[in-house]
Amino acid sequence: MENGYAIIKHGKWKGRIKMEFACDEHIEVAMDVVVDEYEAAPIIEKLNEADQLSTTCSYCKKPAVYSITK
Ligand SMILES: [Zn+2]
Repeated sequence: MENGYAIIKHGKWKGRIKMEFACDEHIEVAMDVVVDEYEAAPIIEKLNEADQLSTTCSYCKKPAVYSITK
């Protein structure tokens, strides 16, 4: 699951604290990754419609619905 980090590190969210993006299918996977990697309870936020359209899930090619922040 490293590709999620690569996308964010080199993408438009660089420098922000949002770490993962997930669609409805992958939100649980993303939460598990954050908890495992950072040992922190993740903060889940639903993206607004504009952000959903411009952001891709870290685990598939679908539009992201949620952001996961440390
Ligand atoms: Zn997905």
